[in-house]
Amino acid sequence: MDRQQEFVLRTIEERDVRFVRLWFTDVVGSLKSVALAPAEVEGAFEEGLGFDGSAIEGLARVFESDMLAQPDPSTFQILPWRGATEQTSRMFCDVLTPDGEPSAADPRNVLKRTLAKAADMGFTCYTHPEIEFYLLKSDRPGPDGVPVPVDQAGYFDHVPGGVAQDFRRTAVTMLEDVGISVEFSHHEGGPGQNEIDLRYADALQTADNIMTFRTVIREVAIQQGTYATFMPKPFSDHPGSGMHTHFSLFEGDSNAFHEPGAEYQLSKTARQFMAGILKHAPEFTAVTNQFVNSYKRLWGGGEAPSYVSWGHNNRSALMRVPLYKPGKGQAARLEYRGIDSAANPYLAYAVLLGAGLKGIEEGYELPPAAVEDVSLLTSAERRLMGHHPLPSSLHDAVRQMEDSELMPEILGEQVFENFLRNKRDEWQEYRLQVTPYEINRYLGIL
Ligand code: GLU
Ligand code: MG
Ligand code: MG
Repeated sequence: MDRQQEFVLRTIEERDVRFVRLWFTDVVGSLKSVALAPAEVEGAFEEGLGFDGSAIEGLARVFESDMLAQPDPSTFQILPWRGATEQTSRMFCDVLTPDGEPSAADPRNVLKRTLAKAADMGFTCYTHPEIEFYLLKSDRPGPDGVPVPVDQAGYFDHVPGGVAQDFRRTAVTMLEDVGISVEFSHHEGGPGQNEIDLRYADALQTADNIMTFRTVIREVAIQQGTYATFMPKPFSDHPGSGMHTHFSLFEGDSNAFHEPGAEYQLSKTARQFMAGILKHAPEFTAVTNQFVNSYKRLWGGGEAPSYVSWGHNNRSALMRVPLYKPGKGQAARLEYRGIDSAANPYLAYAVLLGAGLKGIEEGYELPPAAVEDVSLLTSAERRLMGHHPLPSSLHDAVRQMEDSELMPEILGEQVFENFLRNKRDEWQEYRLQVTPYEINRYLGIL
């Protein structure tokens, strides 16, 4: 038993913890949870907790269904919304095969592997997400089939006595209570739309934090009689919910993206990293934008990117180089604006980081920056400037991912196949639907 494990066992005793939840995710990033009695935790540390992997989407095939969940003691946290006595806590788990090896199908392990590769190249990867979501009156739409937001406010609006403001205050406090530092929170552009930005942390911790964040936000919404959704595009007429993420690579204590005096103060490493992400973006969009609905956001305006491009002060760009003050080189970072709030953070960060590292390894050239709104150019102009479109639908994204050489390398064959199978099924189900749009559009005239 190591010191972290001992610390967890001691805390469980001292804080009157009655339940210890073990958390992990399936291939699309749904949270899976099993509650343990405190007496069972020591055994779970030592041997893992057995469960049927074939019952979890994308984790195992029926003939190899025995899996083990082994809690990571560094992620131990009391869950404040379950009350102050007889407390509930949680730990994230690594999924292991019966012989104790990390499971190739575990999304958390995929990200760990990519981070180990970054470490081999001398880098630590930090990320900081801006998470957008809608606060609705209920999980059911109104009579017209459209979700009902809690307010009609807009970007940065201060709504006196507003529901969203109370919500953000309670949510931010609860996030801090589970050890997640919030940098910034505000009302976003759509009615009932909010954004909360988490402080930067290493990429694995960020991915764990995003899973916790979604749980906390949902819990607080329910407590307040509302409903929070991370659906990428709940309204046709309002902006979607993105999860822009800022990346930086550090070599020891110094930011490898910063080079004083260079254009945009971007080092060669930063340029190659960005070139890697841009080149492979169409291949990994199925992962960063994994649902049928994700493509309604990417192609529905509302400041979501539709084309591969980068820019400085250009919000149509897929990647942006955020400004920082001279002398603040440690803040150098690159923002990826494509990813949405419903992505599996482990897999999404693995493909983004993996593509960036590929750019560094192969010394990719960064194409010129886009200075104008890419969506206003003609398609001929865009072609000439190399601004390729992102996939136009989940189907298109799956096709481009299938042709990728890099994706199976980053995800491992098993996750690559499991993920694609899940997405093909989703597309197949979707394309069989006759939608309200078609009934309204065609029934009266055809
Ligand atoms: N909601 C927009 C999106 O879908 C982003 C707005 C912003 O720039 O924060 O990506
Ligand atoms: Mg925003
Ligand atoms: Mg942003």
